Amino acid sequence: MIVAGSAVHADLDVQADIAVVGSGAGGAVFAKLLTDAGHRVVVLEEGGYYTSADFTQDERDMYPRLYKDRGTQATADQAIGILQGRCVGGSTVVNYLDCFRSPPRLLAEWREVAGLGALTEERMAGFFEAVEEVLSVRQIGVEQLNANNAKLWIAAQRLGWKGDTFHRNALGCIGSGYCGLGCAYDAKQSMALTYIPLASNGGALIHANARVRRILFEGDRAVGLEGDVLDPDTDLPRHRLRVRAKLVVVACGSINTPVLLLASGARDPSGQIGRNLHVHPAFPVIGEYDEEVRAHEGIKQGYYIGEFSGVLHGHPDDLLIEGIGAPPGLSAPLFPGTGDAHMDWLARRDRIASAIVLLRDAGSGRVTVRDDGRPTIRYRLDEERDVPRAKRGIENLIRAFLAAGARRVFGPTVDEVQARHPGDAAAIHERSFAPNRVIVFSAHQMSTCRMGADEAAYPVDPEGRLRAYRNVVVCDASIFPSASGVNPQMTVYGLASHVADMVRSEPRRYGL
Ligand SMILES: Cc1cc2nc3c(=O)[nH]c(=O)nc-3n(C[C@H](O)[C@H](O)[C@H](O)COP(=O)(O)OP(=O)(O)OC[C@H]3O[C@@H](n4cnc5c(N)ncnc54)[C@H](O)[C@@H]3O)c2cc1C
Ligand code: SF4
Repeated sequence: MIVAGSAVHADLDVQADIAVVGSGAGGAVFAKLLTDAGHRVVVLEEGGYYTSADFTQDERDMYPRLYKDRGTQATADQAIGILQGRCVGGSTVVNYLDCFRSPPRLLAEWREVAGLGALTEERMAGFFEAVEEVLSVRQIGVEQLNANNAKLWIAAQRLGWKGDTFHRNALGCIGSGYCGLGCAYDAKQSMALTYIPLASNGGALIHANARVRRILFEGDRAVGLEGDVLDPDTDLPRHRLRVRAKLVVVACGSINTPVLLLASGARDPSGQIGRNLHVHPAFPVIGEYDEEVRAHEGIKQGYYIGEFSGVLHGHPDDLLIEGIGAPPGLSAPLFPGTGDAHMDWLARRDRIASAIVLLRDAGSGRVTVRDDGRPTIRYRLDEERDVPRAKRGIENLIRAFLAAGARRVFGPTVDEVQARHPGDAAAIHERSFAPNRVIVFSAHQMSTCRMGADEAAYPVDPEGRLRAYRNVVVCDASIFPSASGVNPQMTVYGLASHVADMVRSEPRRYGL
């Protein structure tokens, strides 16, 4: 059963075997698999429960409903926008559907560096197959690319670069282009349409508008949770929430998982909870063409250039170039100029192609919790290890757009880079990437509660447990031992399946 906050009329006391906090990629998969194994599962989700009838395709409606902080969450210096879903289904409701299985090189690194020997390709392949079946993951054909993504495809052919169309978790996609605002056609196979209803049909109880404030600990055990049932309209607390459970699963995403653990005073022998935040910085580049591109229509993300990826092809720059279109509100800040000059650009929007450089960041940031329970997110681009690679990626993306026929291409820096010829692209290397001098955002946060063998470096043990407690499992992107280097949702599903499988196999070891 899925219960909205509006249907709760008194303080709530819930008893369960397993309490899962967060209903996104990690929490939903875990909840379904443990429900199937016969456990009484309750899922607590602070965001609301929305269906396709609620998705109005209007940015003014949907960012406040579906995104953390109405889509305005950012690092403390406001330099990097941190996009994150906040609703039943979490970020999977607003994501762009690209599905990459964790590449073999990444799994090998996690086995060797983090000591996660169980993450063999064979074991993970079984989990990926199962998830792909439920989510109807299929690779799209070149003929399905919109004109925006086709520019990258043309560029890859002309420059001899490796690239491919994306696999997507869609069923009956009509290419409306509104993926980031929730899919009004029920084509996106998000957690809200798949694992959450499957868990609910199996007997799990899902509480929307249920914000957990604190995990209650006694010695080396968690005994329950405390929080509030929120008013769906105002987001203000309406009723008190108390949950008793034998196993607590923290799946709040890589910003809020450390926040909940730190706010609860969880013991952390590693001192690493909240550290090692990776964000996959995304740098947008736009190109102007003579013909119409209409980047906002069709499948927003259809094609990527993988030539410079380390995890896919061993390239030292370790980045992806991905075609992407965005709705007008989100994309307007990418256009150059102010006042009339900016308006002029917006008027020519239909001829503008856009794509991002997605960097596998070696540098990292930190999440801490304020007295009011909200996160402070600190992250600076690493000048030595990351900025030079990002600049090379941007230079190559500018070259790609020019190779596909752009008349001019703009880099993402405040001190403008405008390229009409491939040689102009090198100007990016002279630009400042200091905070707020470069446009950069993040839709992929990870690694703030890393899983690994060394107890001094990893707060979560290889069995998915928070080290100081027998019955607290962490199950979301925060357990990635390092940045994934590819879009992360499949890796979250895979790791959640892996952790769920361990709990299912030996429930007593987890307090069940
Ligand atoms: C705009 C956008 C586009 C993306 N596109 C892609 C893509 O194309 N391909 C891809 O692979 N990945 C994509 N991603 C990333 C992917 O969706 C995430 O990596 C993945 O969903 C992370 O899973 P998670 O379980 O860690 O967190 P989430 O899915 O974010 O779920 C966490 C949930 O926990 C809830 N929560 C937090 N704190 C509390 C609390 N205290 N009490 C109760 N509930 C709480 C949140 O409200 C949220 O619903 C995208 C993300 C965004 C934002
Ligand atoms: S493009 Fe496809 S998946 Fe995205 S919102 Fe439209 S129909 Fe849904």
